[in-house]
Amino acid sequence: MLGRNAVNSSIFTNRKVPGMRILIAEDDKVSMLVLSRILEQLGHEVVCAADGAEAWQILSAETFDAIVSDWMMPEMDGLELCRRLRAEQGRAYTYFILLTAKAQQEARAEALAAGVDDFLVKPLQKEELMARLTVARRILDIQDALRTWSTKLEMTAGYLETANRRFSDLFIGLPVACLTFDLEGKIMEWNRAAETLFMIQPEDVWQASLTDVVAPENPDWVESFRARALERGVDEEEVIFERRDGAKRYVVYSAFPLRGQNAAPVGIVCTANDITERRELEKRLEVQLKIAQELNAELDEERSKLATANHRLEELAATDALTGLRNRRAYEDVLHAQYSFAIRQEQDLSLILLDVDHFKSYNDNFGHPAGDVVLRDVAQTLVSNVRAEDLVARYGGEEFVVVLPITDRTSALVIAEKLRAAIEQRAWPHRPITISLGVATLTSDQSTADLVDAADNALYAAKQAGRNRVWYFDEQPMAA
Ligand SMILES: [Mg+2]
Repeated sequence: MLGRNAVNSSIFTNRKVPGMRILIAEDDKVSMLVLSRILEQLGHEVVCAADGAEAWQILSAETFDAIVSDWMMPEMDGLELCRRLRAEQGRAYTYFILLTAKAQQEARAEALAAGVDDFLVKPLQKEELMARLTVARRILDIQDALRTWSTKLEMTAGYLETANRRFSDLFIGLPVACLTFDLEGKIMEWNRAAETLFMIQPEDVWQASLTDVVAPENPDWVESFRARALERGVDEEEVIFERRDGAKRYVVYSAFPLRGQNAAPVGIVCTANDITERRELEKRLEVQLKIAQELNAELDEERSKLATANHRLEELAATDALTGLRNRRAYEDVLHAQYSFAIRQEQDLSLILLDVDHFKSYNDNFGHPAGDVVLRDVAQTLVSNVRAEDLVARYGGEEFVVVLPITDRTSALVIAEKLRAAIEQRAWPHRPITISLGVATLTSDQSTADLVDAADNALYAAKQAGRNRVWYFDEQPMAA
């Protein structure tokens, strides 16, 4: 054997065509020498083996781009070397050129079957060898490219598998029921939430009809849902359906088409969100709200009754029970209000105090019930003969008071006389009834108490003067 000849590395750096690493297996020393020289001149790195066995030994430790091997060799021939090489898994592709004699032309089929790539006929022609090596280079480049692509594809497949698994985990674990179905409405995929919501067993779902699973009682809706999902998608459509266990469920559906190549729809993905708990809670709240509203209405009614009762109480508190007139307390409120108004607006204000003459003897002679009738009739007569803005009140016992807003002395006296005459002229049972009246008009330096005292003094004077008359507090009584 000649030994292994590594080519000078400077040849690699200067070559124009990339050189290859080539193993020569040749038992004929002259042929080997010629071949190795030509290859080295062409810029290749060459290692030589004296026969097939040695070549195989070298191949166990090193890799080569190409092998140029004689067919007929002792120990192991070229075909056997090629077979072993091809039988080895995981080795980068090695281009195999077999040297043949003209007599072996017919056996080429066997060599090709063993994995030989090309043949060279002895004696070797340099141009022929170059041409064959060019082919080898091209084939190896293609092999390289294929290997690169293959690696990329494997990586992509790995990524896809990971992505697929992650998507699958996500889909399966989503807390919202998800289904996919094909264009015929056959279910393709579903998740655990869907199994729970629709009470379906995994073994019953695949290829089951959407209608059977989702709404057996409402096939028309399912058909319409499918059509709309395909056309433009369905966004949050609420549906009530009866589940297999008879329970009524409120479900919000959304769906959109799944598209394949050329964006053509291949199926539909749909989510079904069970909002039954929410709806039931809302219903309970609605009922409670209604109850609260009813209670509120009852409360309002009670409040209104109470307001009416209060108002009635106030009326009662301000009203004299016997005559129905305002009582003394109410009169005092009115007097104070009118007094303030008169002072502020510089308006006149007059007051009449009057008393039923000899009322005590009337009671004594005819009884209290008869006296009460007189008091009621006097009250009614007084009210009938004053203006709307005047206030008539029972002052106490048989005494009455009349507040006359924006009324001067003259007008007050006219009203007082009108009242006196009305009482006198009224038809009374048992005996005639008359009244005495004291009139006062507010002066700028008076308080309400002063005004009342003035009217009281006038009344006293009217009685002293003989009763059944009107007396102004600083004047002579008017003629009766
Ligand atoms: Mg030989």
